Amino acid sequence: METIRTISWMREKAREARQEQRVIGLVPTMGALHAGHLALVDRARKECSPVYASIFLNPTQFGPNEDLSKYPRPLEADIEKLTGAKADGLFLPSAEEIYPPGFSTYVHVEGISERLEGKSRPGHFRGVATVVLKLFEIAQPHYAYFGRKDAQQVRIIQKMVRDLNLDVELVICPTVRETDGLALSSRNAYLGPEERTAATVLFRALQAAGKELAAGVRDTLELQRTMRKVLESESQARVDYAEIVDAETFEPVVRVGRNCYALLAVRIGSTRLIDNMLVHAGDEITVEL
Ligand code: AMP
Repeated sequence: METIRTISWMREKAREARQEQRVIGLVPTMGALHAGHLALVDRARKECSPVYASIFLNPTQFGPNEDLSKYPRPLEADIEKLTGAKADGLFLPSAEEIYPPGFSTYVHVEGISERLEGKSRPGHFRGVATVVLKLFEIAQPHYAYFGRKDAQQVRIIQKMVRDLNLDVELVICPTVRETDGLALSSRNAYLGPEERTAATVLFRALQAAGKELAAGVRDTLELQRTMRKVLESESQARVDYAEIVDAETFEPVVRVGRNCYALLAVRIGSTRLIDNMLVHAGDEITVEL
């Protein structure tokens, strides 16, 4: 597998592939790869050739008091995993390559970027949207692969693609979980053994809401109360938000009548974890965890 460190080289590879009428797949990541990331690569390989993964720990999406400096960077293991997953290339630019001196242009998807994750992490989605647009411009993918674990991020990127007429198709993949339900995340590496056990509370809270939905509950206040009750039963958990929102706008809803997300952000010790459940509201309610 080829490692590509410069924008000009990545552009050249993309230009070549497009000239040969090949279909480019891109899997953007921040590294510390796990089976969730590799599922995106697998899906991309079914639909595209070449498949490029990018690893870029994007400084503009981290707040000043967040975990940028301690974020895990196991580059060799990541390269091995991508090689094993048969990615064709790794785009691995430096921060200076992406943000040269004097950089001052940002993408802001208004409204939805200010809610939930955006409220807790001011500027986060501006950093995400900016870097994703740059990656699209550089790697010229026909298809780009994202995980539904970051549901609000997905929605914001979808909106950016539509609003800016970007010529890329987004493919959204389900959340990959540990056997006890904990969503895989690079940040799970921060959890001590007791915290790791406590961290299953996010999944349990979502499941509890799913059970109530199956029993006919549609009132979102009641569903949110149920999730909070489960979360608060875990002494190590501090709830940042536990909300049910419209799956398109991410605005609060009173009753589950259209597709919704149940969204959680919870601190376990000093580690902040997010998770969600998609609620399909057709004739029957079905949930996807
Ligand atoms: P990150 O490296 O955290 O920026 O994640 C890179 C991509 O992998 C994003 O599209 C995430 O939504 C996706 N991802 C992260 N964790 C998971 C997971 N457990 N299951 C599926 N996709 C995931």
